[in-house]
Amino acid sequence: MYKAQNPDEVICEFKDSLTAFNGVKAASESGKGELNCAITTLIFEALQKEGIPTHLIKQIDNTKLLVKKVDIIPIEVVLRNIAAGSLSKRLGLKEGKKLPFTIIEFYYKNDELNDPLINDDHAMILNLVDNRKELDILREYGRKINEFLTGFFDKIGLILVDFKVEFGKDKNGNIILADEITPDSCRLWDKKTGKKMDKDLFRFDLGDIKEAYSEILERLKEAK
Ligand code: C5P
Repeated sequence: MYKAQNPDEVICEFKDSLTAFNGVKAASESGKGELNCAITTLIFEALQKEGIPTHLIKQIDNTKLLVKKVDIIPIEVVLRNIAAGSLSKRLGLKEGKKLPFTIIEFYYKNDELNDPLINDDHAMILNLVDNRKELDILREYGRKINEFLTGFFDKIGLILVDFKVEFGKDKNGNIILADEITPDSCRLWDKKTGKKMDKDLFRFDLGDIKEAYSEILERLKEAK
């Protein structure tokens, strides 16, 4: 993140670096930043059209966005449509099992504690939000984003398995979508082949992320 001319705005640069398992696995993939910057821009623009407020102002160049300055709410909001990842591991649910309804989880953004799963009471005790209504707003936006993105990705032949979003408060105290939505923060499987097209390729050495991310960007552009 860099300062912008306007103190209410910041410049957000997408890097080529890649981390997984809370930084335990790290690497760099040249060109990934550019791909994720373009993917986030397309997704955030689409969400804005759907009435979901985001921090995006405009794309500045291949790897940079101008965004509204926000105070990030230190909660990772995860939505899950299909069992995978830590949910499968924690509860023993088979990867790929369609969940009877979408699950929403909150994780406390804290590297030292390894981003633990929390509930509303924990969020209140930790003062992560001002009141419980704000947690309802996070859930409400999360659901709207999931509903829209599920259809959005379906149209380009991808299954939205799960994803993580982060929110912040703008200068007026309004909660808006911040951070990014990319194949680094979503699980996306190809509808026809079932192939993983997201960061799990890197996490578990399953294949080339750049090829997969490029394919996602191409499909998004074609659908636009
Ligand atoms: O690892 P887990 O199954 O809990 O991840 C759920 C979803 O949230 C995945 O799509 C993953 O990419 C995303 N996530 C993330 N950043 C984290 C943790 C999870 O983007 N720190």
